[in-house]
Amino acid sequence: MVASSAAVDGVAKQLFIGGQWRDAAEGRTLVVDNPATGQELARVADASPADGMAALTAAADAQKEWARTDPRERGELLRKAFELITQRADLFAELMTLEMGKPLAEAKGEVTYGGEFFRWFSEEAVRISGRYSVAPSGGTRLLTMKQPVGPTVMITPWNFPLAMGTRKIGPAIAAGCTMVVKPAAETPLTMLALAQLLEEVGLPAGVLNVITTSASGEVMEPIIRDPRTRKLTFTGSTAVGRKLIEQSAQQVLRVSMELGGNAPFIVFEDADIDAAVEGAMLAKMRNIGEACTAANRLYVHASVADEFADKMAAKMGGLVVADGMDPDSQVGPLINQKAIDKVDALVRDAVDRGAQVVTGGSTTGEAGFFYEPTVLTNLPADADMVREEIFGPVAAIQTFTDEDEVVAKANDTEYGLASYFFTRDFSRAIRVAEALDYGMVGVNQGIISNPAAPFGGVKASGFGREGGFEGIDEYLEDKYVGIKL
Ligand code: NAP
Repeated sequence: MVASSAAVDGVAKQLFIGGQWRDAAEGRTLVVDNPATGQELARVADASPADGMAALTAAADAQKEWARTDPRERGELLRKAFELITQRADLFAELMTLEMGKPLAEAKGEVTYGGEFFRWFSEEAVRISGRYSVAPSGGTRLLTMKQPVGPTVMITPWNFPLAMGTRKIGPAIAAGCTMVVKPAAETPLTMLALAQLLEEVGLPAGVLNVITTSASGEVMEPIIRDPRTRKLTFTGSTAVGRKLIEQSAQQVLRVSMELGGNAPFIVFEDADIDAAVEGAMLAKMRNIGEACTAANRLYVHASVADEFADKMAAKMGGLVVADGMDPDSQVGPLINQKAIDKVDALVRDAVDRGAQVVTGGSTTGEAGFFYEPTVLTNLPADADMVREEIFGPVAAIQTFTDEDEVVAKANDTEYGLASYFFTRDFSRAIRVAEALDYGMVGVNQGIISNPAAPFGGVKASGFGREGGFEGIDEYLEDKYVGIKL
């Protein structure tokens, strides 16, 4: 049964290629479900490899002219789009809640966060600069200029359907790149609504092309290997990222990879414990735990561990688990049955190895994919969830007694995206921030995502940065011109 929603009804369900909305070859469609009910929400076009190629052709054909537009024009388009997203916050929030599951209040938070990337990069579009200098030996003058990289392929995940798109599309528009965007099959509606909005503000045909497909590997590989593509930017799992890096090698593409995480969250003995619990709730429960920045391993000093665990369990146990459209909902469903099975298997494994369940610990609800907010203590170091992303509402606590020991444990992972710690000792704050092998460190705060800051990881969490002054450089090439006088 298809549940009706005016927000969903208003979304174009076709492919957006060269400024035209069109059906997929042979009229194929893919089904989008609501994870809170398990019911069908909508059907959108299911692109074939030929549709994907048509999208790349449109992007490649539009590149030259788009690169010649005035920076102010590109900035103004982004500014208008930012304003329209803000005006339509309720609509975008509803779409995200329906297709992805996050509670409406959080979905509105993502609209603000996602829209901010357009505002930030509208301001950056007019600040692209170069350099002029005299060669050290005199005579020659050295001129450097920044030019758009060219047609860019963007692949985004389902967990932040709007923001993972705007933080790629924003800098690409600002820099003068055209693009082919492929959102996740679970959450295509938000990206299609964004494409409609960008069309409405006057983005020229072919600059943005959106393809939705159930055959992402088959459709994207030929595009990535095509010589007209000049850049690939991907947000998703490390496993898929590795595959795409290999495919990118053929054309030696510029590549940005925002991959998986395994964030440590450390509470030192001198921390403000109430603030640390608040921070842990945000770092753990934002997006139902389905965030690459989610606190995956909680290390709490042994002298404050009982107090921290009790307070955390009280907060987690008090959260309202319900369909995200319910105004009281604080924890929505996970994305699908596979996600539920993974979280449950990780909890069973931890318990089998000796962890104690303080609250939660199982699935809940009659329909949809709900899991109880869960707190585990005495997590053994060999539990699977110490190495794997939980991607669900499970806070697992380990204890420590020594700063060097906990920093070593925090760094003992292949990932290096987000990390957090709480302390009131200023010297320790600097020392530990320097010692953590992560692209991002939150000190006394549980949220670090900010459009004005460079978001990204090291090690198997990827490379490249999104947001901040660094974000636009990912879409620009440096050209050096030597001039003999
Ligand atoms: P995923 O399975 O890697 O999927 C991400 C995207 O890649 C989706 O659009 C997916 O399409 C597509 N894809 C899958 N296989 C592909 C292939 N062979 N070729 C081309 N595209 C392919 O990841 P996910 O489960 O959606 O997202 C969760 C992961 O993303 C987590 O590991 C999380 O940490 C990470 N993440 C990282 C960041 C960051 O900034 N570092 C932010 C958010 C999420 P389909 O939907 O069709 O499978």
